[in-house]
Amino acid sequence: MHINVHAGHNPAGMTASGASGLIEESTENRKVKNEVIRQLRELGNTVYDCTVDNGKGQMDVLKKIVEKCNAHEADLDVSIHFNSAANDMSGDGRTTGTEVYVYSASSSAVLPAERVCSEIAALGYRNRGVKYSRDLYILKNTKAPAMLIECCFVDDRDDVRLYSPEKMASAIVRGIAGKRPGDTEGTEEAEAGKEITEAGGTEKQIYCVQTGAYAVKANAEAMRDKLVKAGFEAVIVKK
Ligand SMILES: [Zn+2]
Repeated sequence: MHINVHAGHNPAGMTASGASGLIEESTENRKVKNEVIRQLRELGNTVYDCTVDNGKGQMDVLKKIVEKCNAHEADLDVSIHFNSAANDMSGDGRTTGTEVYVYSASSSAVLPAERVCSEIAALGYRNRGVKYSRDLYILKNTKAPAMLIECCFVDDRDDVRLYSPEKMASAIVRGIAGKRPGDTEGTEEAEAGKEITEAGGTEKQIYCVQTGAYAVKANAEAMRDKLVKAGFEAVIVKK
């Protein structure tokens, strides 16, 4: 695939930089963006970095990003942002979570957007789902199907506690490409289909297949229910 990836906004400290909270959007979205690009390239995709670091204002940043995106023939545009206004600086034990915007229900970015949501949710974030917006400049003006990822909230202690740029990027890459470098099989649902088996001979080695590890019990229960619904046996084990 040919994929355009960019981090939203100017760099931190400049005009038109992103949201601030416990972490800075413009710092973190660049870390995630770099790792997403690295992994997608390692998987053999052609990836263009369309990030803009010299916008004169918010509209100028957006225009320059779209110019860069539309200069390439791409299959997908990926815009990386962080959300704000959760207002949970001390943490209430629940994440506010992740959401991904696409232009409309008929965009071919809907399916990968849904996968990105569930892969990020599998890290333990609340899944706010795929949302539609005809107003977001990037979604409206890019030629290729586009998705705008709001990874998680900069002003929610629970989101920030769970956050690592590498894990966030890996989840995004799995959502877009179905796997990340190092994955031998496809998605975690496919992994869950493998049976627990015993090695031959006298050795009693048990191989367990794990689908996720969650700090929040409700998220573990949600994944278990999803697996059971999909026809897999699933149990919750405390570690
Ligand atoms: Zn943003």
